[in-house]
Order: sequence, then structure tokens, then C-alpha cells
Amino acid sequence: MDEIQRNFVQLLKERDILISDNQLAQFELYYKELIEWNNKLNLTAITEREQVYLKHFYDSLSLAFYYDMNKALSIADIGSGAGFPSIPLRIIFPHLKVTIVDSLNKRIIFLKELVDKLELNNVECIHGRAEDVSRMPAYRDQFDLVTARAVAKLSVLNELCLPFVKKDGHFIAMKGSEIEEELLDAAYSISELKGKVVQVDRMELPSEHSIRHIVVIKKRFATPAKYPRKAGLLNKNPLT
Ligand code: SAM
Repeated sequence: MDEIQRNFVQLLKERDILISDNQLAQFELYYKELIEWNNKLNLTAITEREQVYLKHFYDSLSLAFYYDMNKALSIADIGSGAGFPSIPLRIIFPHLKVTIVDSLNKRIIFLKELVDKLELNNVECIHGRAEDVSRMPAYRDQFDLVTARAVAKLSVLNELCLPFVKKDGHFIAMKGSEIEEELLDAAYSISELKGKVVQVDRMELPSEHSIRHIVVIKKRFATPAKYPRKAGLLNKNPLT
């Protein structure tokens, strides 16, 4: 184990997450695959190894600092890109059944290869727009937990993500430093999509001290049939 891995293990231990040698090896393989595919696919701007461990792996796992992952069995990751946050979460919490949705097929191709290489079972990678996939009965009102990191502003994200959540399940948005205005702006969409903000946590990323927010929204009732609206409309005319 080198300095970067020791630091990663220690930071997680401080959050009561213990990581096995096998899981640590999976993260290292993940890093190598990410860098190798990044040359062709433009998966991430963060490529320096220490930064990937901190800003992708640790940051993805921070969701579990504020939400008890044992409460969730099924999780959907909307706009997962190169697998964040769901692949790090699946490595650490093997009981999770993960569904990834991304509209860019080259990212889905990478993720399918990655899942094979890491030997992760119970991970489904779907190429499609969230607006379309959440209309399919197998995915609508189905998931214990739905998450999205760095995909859209909250007023748009709610319409993309809440339709996947089952009644009494949660949508967790992983956001950056500015959250107050975004929350105000998202109030109408949250109520239209039958959600309720139940928790907002602030986290400082170790070493570089940038601020993150974890917004937990509980879904109180099934999504009304008119949502989500069509792709163009949803982005052009957010529910505000
Ligand atoms: N969540 C990853 C992360 O934190 O690194 C990736 C973020 S990347 C900036 C946004 C991703 O969302 C892209 O891979 C994009 O293809 C996907 N995306 C954007 N809109 C989407 C939609 N409506 N449905 C599905 N995927 C979408």
C-alpha cells in the first residue's frame, strides 16, 4: 500500500468505513482503467492519481457519510459519467443492486467493461436519457435510493431523478458549495414531484477544503403521470 492509498484508507476509517485489501485493489484497477480509457473517451478532467482518489472516489463515497447505506438495496445513478458516485459505492457496499443511466453511449460502453474488470455483479448500465428510462414501468417508482452528481441544477435534477424513486425512498443530490439559491429555485419542482427535503449536509473535502452539499429528498407519493416532460422542454423550461 502506498501513501495515497494509506491516506484514502485513513480518511474513510475516520468516517467509519473500513476497506478490505480486495476493495482497495478494485479502486486501483478502477483508477488504471479510467486513465487508460480517458485518452480515447474524455471521461474526466481529473487524472492525477491522488486527485482521482480524493475528488472522485472519496467524494463519491461521501454520500454514505450522511445516509445509512444499509437502508438501501436498489440504487439508481442518473448521469453517472465514468461511474460516479455509484461504482465507488458498489465497491464498498456489495449488497447494493445498482442501475446506471447515462445518455452518452461511449460512457456506458466504458462502464460495462469496467464492471466486468472489477467483477462487480448486480450492476446494470443503461444507455438512455433519464426522461425516457423513467417512463418504463421497470424503472418508474422503483428505487430505494436515486442519486446524481454534477449533472444539472436541482430544479432540473428533481424531474430527472424523482420519477425513479419508490414511495418513501430518497433522492440524494450531490452538490457543490452554493446551495441556498438552488434550493429556493427548486422548491416548486420538489413539491410538483411529490418530494420533501429532509436533510441538507455540508461537507469539506479533505486537503483542498472545497465545500460540498448532500441534499436528501424523500419521495412522499408516486410521480404524477405528466412527469417527466420531454427532454427539450425539461431543460429549456425547468419547473420553477
Ligand atoms: N456523475 C458523474 C460525475 O460526477 O463525475 C458525471 C457527471 S457529467 C458532468 C454528466 C453526465 O450526465 C454525462 O455523462 C451526461 O452524458 C449525463 N447526462 C446528462 N443529461 C442526462 C440525461 N437527461 N439522462 C441521462 N444522462 C444524462
